[in-house]
Amino acid sequence: MPLLSRAETRRMLGKLETAYPDAKCALNFSTPFELLIATILSAQCTDARVNMVTENLFKKYRGPEDYAAVTPEILQEDIQSLGLFRAKSENIVAACRMLLERFGGEVPRTQDELVQLPGVGRKTANVVLSNAFGIPALAVDTHVQRVANRIGLANSMNPNLTEQQICQRVPQKLWSQAHHWLIHHGRQVCTARNPKCDVCPVQAHCQFYRKLQEEEKLREKVFEAKTAGKKRGRSGPHPRKGAASSGRSRG
Ligand code: SF4
Repeated sequence: MPLLSRAETRRMLGKLETAYPDAKCALNFSTPFELLIATILSAQCTDARVNMVTENLFKKYRGPEDYAAVTPEILQEDIQSLGLFRAKSENIVAACRMLLERFGGEVPRTQDELVQLPGVGRKTANVVLSNAFGIPALAVDTHVQRVANRIGLANSMNPNLTEQQICQRVPQKLWSQAHHWLIHHGRQVCTARNPKCDVCPVQAHCQFYRKLQEEEKLREKVFEAKTAGKKRGRSGPHPRKGAASSGRSRG
């Protein structure tokens, strides 16, 4: 599938901006450290559920020292309503210990450093960089992956390549916002099943929609050809058949 040009990408993004003017990070946080914890907790969970958990968690555990001082088993009790809570507890405790040992208790500001922390991959690092520090970064989650591949901002199942392809098309100053626009669009319109293409604000720029339209036109052509063939068949005997039948009657 051909990818959108930079110019068409800009026009498409303008429509997403109009559609989702208030799009922003849905996780609640007040410091980069809280965002780091919330993002680790958000793997395979809804942001709303994570916010319910962090409301109390962030009152109980204020900084990396508090998490580093407990065992994963103790932390589990506070996050057990979230999926993968055992692995997340282990990662958070280990990440906080590493923050204290290697980074002076501060959340690092580079991707290379962030991904050294247990439980932090490229996506989590990009969320923290862009939302906590305002550093241009584009996190590819499941919504961004799907929507970008449908629209034609990317044509890869590999999130790292998807990120590269999107970033090649989207101006750097819009990376963070583009991430939020694509997530909102994926949640509200371009859903995994049954995307609402008929009401989609970017259908005119979407490769998936273009393909659907082309397939529809092809089906119409095939249907018309079949209908025309049937009409010809009903419009009278074939000349050669007519001649054969007259010959038999004469005999
Ligand atoms: S036209 Fe359909 S597939 Fe394309 S972005 Fe919109 S909802 Fe998604």
